[in-house]
Amino acid sequence: MGALRDRFWKLPLAALNAAEWEKLCDGCGKCCLHKLEDEDTGAIAETNVACRLLDCETAQCMDYRHRKAKVPDCLQLTLKLVERVPWLPESCAYRRRAEGRDLPEWHHLLTGSTDAMIAAGASVAGRVISEDEAGPIEHHIVAWDDE
Ligand code: SF4
Repeated sequence: MGALRDRFWKLPLAALNAAEWEKLCDGCGKCCLHKLEDEDTGAIAETNVACRLLDCETAQCMDYRHRKAKVPDCLQLTLKLVERVPWLPESCAYRRRAEGRDLPEWHHLLTGSTDAMIAAGASVAGRVISEDEAGPIEHHIVAWDDE
């Protein structure tokens, strides 16, 4: 995986090793929520419906290591994907760094814990419902406060 270099999050995404790439995630959980795409316009609507593997109270994946086996369409975030997909939230650490922006001041790499992220309202923990319980996704469209 590689060692974590001092202030590695300042480096370009392409320069990160596997361990640094994993650490960059803020754990907000927003990429684990279903989105709806308008067939005509391509517009993306956000929802509060979570992948069934997401722990809705902590916004953490319940089986990160085996998630691809359990949820085959779970996307492994890569540099190419970060640059291509339109739905990563504004606050997403990968999106921010891909756009040349710094991490938000609440990011765990700057504060040492996820407390500030939760206090800032950047995590979906406790604010989402599992796809197993949600019913029609169209009933769950929300606009997440980003940033
Ligand atoms: S949206 Fe970005 S920062 Fe948030 S959990 Fe997903 S990959 Fe990590």
